[in-house]
Parts: sequence; C-alpha cells; structure tokens
Amino acid sequence: MPKIGVLALQGDFREHLASFERLGQRAQMVRTVEDLAQVDALVLPGGESSVIDRLSRNYGLADPIKERIADGMPVYGSCAGMIMLADRIENPAIARDGAVQQSFGGIDMTVKRNAFGRQVDSFEHQLDFNGHTLEAVFIRAPEAVQVGPDVEVISTVQAGPNGGQGRIVAVRQGKLLATSFHPEVTGSTAIHQFFINLTRGDA
Ligand code: GLN
Repeated sequence: MPKIGVLALQGDFREHLASFERLGQRAQMVRTVEDLAQVDALVLPGGESSVIDRLSRNYGLADPIKERIADGMPVYGSCAGMIMLADRIENPAIARDGAVQQSFGGIDMTVKRNAFGRQVDSFEHQLDFNGHTLEAVFIRAPEAVQVGPDVEVISTVQAGPNGGQGRIVAVRQGKLLATSFHPEVTGSTAIHQFFINLTRGDA
C-alpha cells in the first residue's frame, strides 16, 4: 500500500486524513523534510495558499517538495492546494515587504485565486468527476483560467455566483491532480479513492 502524506502546515489537513481513514488507507501528516522522505504521495490541503507558501519555505519544505514533484511523486491539491500545484498564479498575494506569493508548480496551468468571489460567495454545485456525480463545495475557490496541452480537464462547472460557462475546476497532469473544491469537507470519498488508484498506477 502506498504511504500517503498530507501537508499539515495550515488548512484542513485533518479532514483529508479522515477521508483516507474512511477508505481504510493509511495517511500521515507531513511537517518536516524527514516526514516527506517517508511518503510515496502527498496531499496539499485547502486553506490559504499564501500561508502554505510562506510556511513551506520557512520550514525548508518548498524545495524538497518541488524536487519530489519533478521526480514524479503523485500529488493531489484541493483548493489552496490546487493553487500550490499551478505553474502560474494570475493574482498572487503580495506581502507587505513586497514578496510575491509562489507556488510549487507542476501543472501547466494558470489559476486565478478567489475566482468565484469572496467567502460569502461560497457555494455548492453538482458536478461530474470521472463518472461520479458529486456535490462539490467551493470556498473562495480558484479556477484554472488557462491550461497547457498536457493537462486533462476532468470537471467544469457551468455556473458560479458570477455565472460563466464551463469553468475548469478539476484537472490532471500525469500523477498530479487538482480540484478547486473540497471533497474532504463533504464526506464524499470518490476523489480520494481516485487519488489512491492514481498512486497505485491504476488511474
Ligand atoms: N482563497 C484561498 C487561497 O488563495 C483558497 C481557499 C480554500 O482553500 N478554501 O489560498
């Protein structure tokens, strides 16, 4: 069984751990370089991507994570995690000292943070994910506004609070998977199962 780690610096990592537990899959928190070395795959949780960015650099985890991504480690990012997996951020946060938010990258896409509005505009939407119908929760969710040729679009939504058509909310590039929404908060395990299959080479 692959060892799956969940980056546990900030955000809803506990909900991801619980989702794997419901599937009988072992998952462990990753907070240090040593923790990272022990896992075969990694989940980047929802939360605040600019904080995950800053903490991962402060803890010396950003470069090792980038190296593992380059080596082909399977990674799943939900919401803030999707932003961390994007090669480009359209509207990065700028810190008071002028530092621009960075991502780990890996997926050839440009994401727009908070693309569906602010916290009050959070919404649920039914969508198709690889043959499953899911009730997806969007909380200050990002959108992939541009994807490269190697990126497979898995899910789109036809409408958010701002309307719009076919907005990209789930993508895959090789062993990297990203969703704008949070399957870990709804109790639906289809995406976690998909990621387990992906880490086993079955998806
Ligand atoms: N808007 C947040 C960010 O930029 C993501 C929100 C979330 O993960 N629910 O990181």
